[in-house]
Amino acid sequence: MDCIFCQIVAGTVPSEIIYQDDEVIAFPDISPQAPIHLIIIPKKHIPSLAHLSEAESRLMGHMVSIANQLAKREGIFESGYRLVINCGKQGGQLVPHLHMHLLGGRKLPNALG
Ligand code: AMP
Ligand code: ZN
Repeated sequence: MDCIFCQIVAGTVPSEIIYQDDEVIAFPDISPQAPIHLIIIPKKHIPSLAHLSEAESRLMGHMVSIANQLAKREGIFESGYRLVINCGKQGGQLVPHLHMHLLGGRKLPNALG
């Protein structure tokens, strides 16, 4: 298994798991781009948003709901935050395991590229 995020799920690569349930884990981004920068992933290896089946689409709703909970826990729910999913080469995806970035804690610039 050479997927870094699968290795975090398996515990073979250390990370500070700040949330986990049967389907999802969350941990801090190793290279934070904002005071709060968390990564939320499905435990299941799904390579990207483009590989999400219709049956798995409920998972995305669950991940958004977890992101909202974590935004509350991190104290950025009121000030505002951003969820980002990069997909594929031109979408800027570097790690080929579906993930959502939760960013906040500073005024984020317009980032629609
Ligand atoms: P993306 O460009 O959307 O694929 O972003 C991948 C993110 O994963 C980047 O922000 C990296 O800093 C982050 N990342 C890579 N390896 C690790 C790791 N071992 N632990 C936490 N975050 C990581
Ligand atoms: Zn993986």
